[in-house]
Amino acid sequence: MCCDSKRRFLLLYATQKGQAKAIAEEIWQQAGAHGLEADMHCISEMDEYNLETEKDPVVIVISTTGTGDPPDTARKFVKKIQDTTLPPDHFAHLQYGLLGLGDSEYMFFCNGGKTVDRRLQELGAQHFYDTGLADDCVGLELVVDPWIDGLWLALKEALLMQKEKEGMNNVVDVVTSSPSPAPCVVDELNLSSEIQNLKLEDEGARSSDVLSQKLDDINLVAPARNTEPSLVNSVPPVSQSALNIPALPPEYIEVQFQGTHGKNPHLSSLILEETAFEVPVTKAVQLTREDAIKTALLLELDISDTVFDYQPGDAFCVICPNNANEVEELLHILGLSEKGDDFVCVKVKQGTKKKGASRPQHIPERSTLKFILTWCLEIRAVPKKAFVRALVECTSDAGEKRRLQELCSRQGASDYMRFIRDSNVCFLDLLHAFPSCRPSLNLLIEHLPKLQARSYSVSSSNLYQPGKLCFVFNIVEFPACPTRPVSRKGVCTGWLAELVAPLLHPNKNTLDTKGESFSAEKIPIFPRPNNTFHLPADPSVPFIMVGPGTGISPFIGFLQHRQKLREQHTDWEFGETWLFFGCRHQDRDYLFKQLRCFLENGTLTHLKVCFSRDSSTAEVAPPKYVQDIIRLYAKEVARILLEEKGYFYICGDKKHMADGVSDAVVDILSMEMEADRLEAMKILAMLREEKRYLQDVWS
Ligand code: FAD
Repeated sequence: MCCDSKRRFLLLYATQKGQAKAIAEEIWQQAGAHGLEADMHCISEMDEYNLETEKDPVVIVISTTGTGDPPDTARKFVKKIQDTTLPPDHFAHLQYGLLGLGDSEYMFFCNGGKTVDRRLQELGAQHFYDTGLADDCVGLELVVDPWIDGLWLALKEALLMQKEKEGMNNVVDVVTSSPSPAPCVVDELNLSSEIQNLKLEDEGARSSDVLSQKLDDINLVAPARNTEPSLVNSVPPVSQSALNIPALPPEYIEVQFQGTHGKNPHLSSLILEETAFEVPVTKAVQLTREDAIKTALLLELDISDTVFDYQPGDAFCVICPNNANEVEELLHILGLSEKGDDFVCVKVKQGTKKKGASRPQHIPERSTLKFILTWCLEIRAVPKKAFVRALVECTSDAGEKRRLQELCSRQGASDYMRFIRDSNVCFLDLLHAFPSCRPSLNLLIEHLPKLQARSYSVSSSNLYQPGKLCFVFNIVEFPACPTRPVSRKGVCTGWLAELVAPLLHPNKNTLDTKGESFSAEKIPIFPRPNNTFHLPADPSVPFIMVGPGTGISPFIGFLQHRQKLREQHTDWEFGETWLFFGCRHQDRDYLFKQLRCFLENGTLTHLKVCFSRDSSTAEVAPPKYVQDIIRLYAKEVARILLEEKGYFYICGDKKHMADGVSDAVVDILSMEMEADRLEAMKILAMLREEKRYLQDVWS
């Protein structure tokens, strides 16, 4: 790394889906403008840096994955620093600043960052800058932007102190003066020639990582409209503000078209470490009535010809394609409708200014254009500000250009949050709203994230149905709205619903034109084992399951498994089993009549159900939600958890349900133990620690 030691800092990122990396790249880019040099590495590249001997300040950007785990790329690092033999002054020489990324809808918010932060502190490392914890639930930008803004001064002070310590006061002048643009950054800020209707402020007066723009001529491009602001329309003060626009991210991908000969890569190549299996869908059942608010489907897959294995409680992933119409639409907008089946070779652009540029791992080196748009890129992603910034350059209409500039500017931050992020405006929506924007293919590859496989909880037992794997899902629907003229379905659930339509409506579709039976569609899947959400190893231990709506899914697997074990081992002792289940309407979406069979044959000891939207004529209104019925059984819940060392499982919607259930359990523990809430919370934390209070929740 060619870093000047007078202004160098070490920048480490640990990323799961690319956000921490993108933020680290932003820091790397801004560093130059502040006269600093970031020596940037993925935290997994442990032979590229050495914290044991690191003298310069260290900046760490780290996300969180799973149930509060550090990203996969940080596993080795975390294992290394968690070595209990390390002395408490192991990192006493280290100064660091840490930015954690997380989502407060999950139980262990920013736990990846918190774990590393805590451990570095335990090992004597010092903060040179306060830890930032950014929340994806409300918008990472709310914390990330101000955190990066404040980082520069803190870094300069840390470097100054570092040099003072080393008796090198004479060399710090480079970093103590007000920031001046690094030459390469100036090169990249080449907006001015293209945006002729906006004037740049005096070079010397502006901060070098942004362009401040005078408003003398703003009215030429965005005449003050006396209307409400919207995605495409701005009103004062934003429409009349000078804008601080982030530096243009350097392009780094080059795409070459290579004709129609060749073969697309196997889908397995899109996932790391796992093997994908293409398995037939052998059964599809609609679990809800046509008039239910959400449509829930159960699909059965035949895995008998594969080595795919699972335990009840595991989840697995479905590799899903983007919607074919949206891919066509995108090809049309890109002006590449005729080239969808052409092979393209994706390479790093020669001479790019992007540091450490490499072809994104999820993009094959050679495949057809349609393959990339269908299987590799999340074309529904909400564009990040850096992408919006890059789109400015591809927009010909001056008014549209100005609005895109506003949306990625500091002054337009709340408009970005309101009209893009919170409205879930996806890339295609943006292209519709700004019709003169014609991005090039390489920009999509550079800025759109990987199309993620979707996880589903297994809803069957391999003991009960050998060779089969069932799962249950709601078809996700996004209704039309001003920024989205057409309604959409979820990428994966919409695709699955379309795929299995012939199985759901057999009279219409299961016979093809020759009268032959429907041949089963195949879907690509791969395992996502869950290490903890499994049945208690000892069958005599009682357990409680809480699974409203599709959250019932893994518990069907639990109960099937249990039923089979009871049949096979009549001499075993089995603990009692409780299921708290809820849905909206008893007659419309009461999933799984099967539950009653489990109750009748004794597999399930207690089934407690509630219906949140059914009206009742009873004098005392029945409980609506699972958390309400749980409270009615406070004594039993406390007995199972505290006296009988039982297990408590929750599955389903994390936003509305899981927290409500935890609150109910805390209340129960506090009431039954006659302890205050704090004490009860400690007991709950202990149950979590002992892996007896387990959650499998999703949004
Ligand atoms: P997507 O297209 O990914 O959209 C879903 C989400 O994207 C929305 O919830 C919203 O947050 C956001 N979004 C995208 N566009 C918009 C928009 N225009 N407006 C508003 N929001 C938008 N689901 C089940 O049904 N059953 C299960 O058993 C199950 N098990 C899971 C297990 C695990 C471990 C995990 C992590 C998730 C599980 N899920 C389950 C959730 C599942 O993985 C998918 O997220 C879900 O099916 C939606 O996928 P989709 O591609 O259809 O929707």
